[in-house]
Amino acid sequence: MENPPLKSLYQQLILEHYRKPKNKADLPDRTVEVRMTNPVCGDEIVLQLKIEGDEIRTARFAGQGCSISQASVSMMTTLLEGRKLADADGIATRFTQMMHGDESAGGDRTLGDLRALQGVSKFPVRIKCALLGFDALLEALKQSGHTPVVRDEGDEEETTP
Ligand code: ZN
Repeated sequence: MENPPLKSLYQQLILEHYRKPKNKADLPDRTVEVRMTNPVCGDEIVLQLKIEGDEIRTARFAGQGCSISQASVSMMTTLLEGRKLADADGIATRFTQMMHGDESAGGDRTLGDLRALQGVSKFPVRIKCALLGFDALLEALKQSGHTPVVRDEGDEEETTP
């Protein structure tokens, strides 16, 4: 069966971010740094942000692992610079909803290139890969004194620690 054009376009975009990641560099004047790992897949991400007031000035990362995890964090960093912390939190929420099968999130322009990862929601084992960068982001926001936006509770899933 042939891939529909949109799907192959998305696959190209993922590979492009994986091969030539955006913002993969050290950030000497960072205000926060968070390291996250996904032992199941062997993914590792170190996210560095420079936050001033309630705004993200610069976002950089280091990392290794599968194409999903590395493309996801690369795509994420392209959306963060110049964002208010609350907006960054909002992007994380929207992306998480998409990973949990919310199809309307897949058409949300605020997610930018991240929309290419929508298909990952069909592969539960890989969802953690896609969310790893956002786990780091949320932790970085928390460490920077940001109070998380209240989310809709009643989520279907319980994850075992
Ligand atoms: Zn992975």
